[in-house]
Amino acid sequence: MSQIQVHDKYFKPYIDENTLQERITAIAAQLSEDYKGKKPLFVAILNGSFMFAADLFKRMTIDVELCFIKLASYKGTKSTGNVITAIGMDTDIFSRDVIIIEDIVDTGKTLSEFLPQLEHQQPASLSIVSLLHKPDATVFPIDIKYLGFSIPNKFVVGYGLDYDGLGRNLPAIYQLA
Ligand code: 5GP
Repeated sequence: MSQIQVHDKYFKPYIDENTLQERITAIAAQLSEDYKGKKPLFVAILNGSFMFAADLFKRMTIDVELCFIKLASYKGTKSTGNVITAIGMDTDIFSRDVIIIEDIVDTGKTLSEFLPQLEHQQPASLSIVSLLHKPDATVFPIDIKYLGFSIPNKFVVGYGLDYDGLGRNLPAIYQLA
């Protein structure tokens, strides 16, 4: 792997394909064990998580369902702040064991705004799987039960993550050089 260019920026190899796949296999094994007999529902957050969700999903060895949603943020009133709506959330999660799939948790803002909405619908359980986490960027602490990799607070692309639309197709993760 060598340095690549996406738009105007250069990125260096950071997590290679094998390392990613090995970690995802381990997470899928853990999830398959923890949710045995429960038929959990994966809720994958688009766009960034589509590749991770697919690789994780196909390694699950128990019955499991999957839906994809997109989060849209718009400005609410002064008191409500930003309002997050989930587009495509058409599966009833009442009494379900729900596992949110994220590509990366950065400040934690997105999930901190979205999770209360899901909790309101009274799932049996709610946990989070994220491929990446930037602990140094935390503003809103999020309990990530299943984590791929902790990474420094530097911008990354690849494996579903983009820089201004490009870079998602890379099979590995690259870090801003
Ligand atoms: P948060 O709400 O946790 O601050 O941000 C979460 C979202 O920001 C992620 O789902 C992702 O879309 C975007 N994001 C945060 N850090 C990065 C990064 O290093 N690279 C890319 N491509 N997106 C990021």
